Amino acid sequence: HENSPVISLERKGDWVARTPKGQVTAPRVIMAVNGHLNSFGYMQGQLMHVFTYASMTRVLSEDEIARLGGRRIWGLTPADPMGTTVRRISGTGGDRIVIRNRFTFDPKMEVDARRIARVARDHDRAFAARFPQLNGVEMEHRWGGRLCLSRNGVQVIGELDVGLYSACCQNGLGTAKGTLAGGLAADLSLGITSPALERALAADSPSRLPPSPIAQIGANMHIRLAEMRAGKEL
Ligand SMILES: Cc1cc2nc3c(=O)[nH]c(=O)nc-3n(C[C@H](O)[C@H](O)[C@H](O)COP(=O)(O)OP(=O)(O)OC[C@H]3O[C@@H](n4cnc5c(N)ncnc54)[C@H](O)[C@@H]3O)c2cc1C
Repeated sequence: HENSPVISLERKGDWVARTPKGQVTAPRVIMAVNGHLNSFGYMQGQLMHVFTYASMTRVLSEDEIARLGGRRIWGLTPADPMGTTVRRISGTGGDRIVIRNRFTFDPKMEVDARRIARVARDHDRAFAARFPQLNGVEMEHRWGGRLCLSRNGVQVIGELDVGLYSACCQNGLGTAKGTLAGGLAADLSLGITSPALERALAADSPSRLPPSPIAQIGANMHIRLAEMRAGKEL
């Protein structure tokens, strides 16, 4: 159900999840909301909300595809973690290039259009440096999205309350860690155990963060410095 946020989650015998226009009742619930675990009152002051950003070109023409050459689908991650990820995509929606870079720490879990515009300059520069043969190809979509990190790099996998399970805080590696977390939380809710689940349950809690203004200044300075050190990887 897109666009139907859960606005309250209470245990009244079973769990009752209320949305603006309805409610769902279930004996067991798995929270897979990443950093929004905080919005439900869990792990307050323990989760870092870091944004990263992407821009996607318009559909490339056949002439541009020929100039680009190579395979139609590939992805490259940077040698430096603060660098730029580049993806060449092809299929529904045509042939395009996606550029992802920059990180910002935003405890309020929101970023505004001005930020997206500033980051867009870094995307355009990274695109131009890598694809001079596509000079003049403009970006059609730009967006930012939330990563949830913990200071000690742990995920939040476990039972938060009776019948309420968490598969959250992927530390930026959602495709691998998020998939694992979801599977383990489902196993836990069904009483199925495994060495991987036992390891997850034995993990520490996310360590506490310094007070929000200090954490925000410190984290953003640290990120900017690391981004500068990434040099041409960015
Ligand atoms: C631009 C960008 C590029 C990335 N590239 C990669 C990559 O190449 N490889 C990789 O592994 N990771 C990548 N990541 C990180 C990856 O996207 C995340 O780690 C992953 O999406 C986390 O998965 P998740 O399911 O835990 O949380 P999310 O994908 O954040 O999903 C949480 C869901 O919970 C929903 N939700 C929150 N609150 C409520 C509520 N109250 N009611 C109902 N629903 C709610 C949200 O709408 C959302 O759909 C990238 C992230 C971004 C932003």
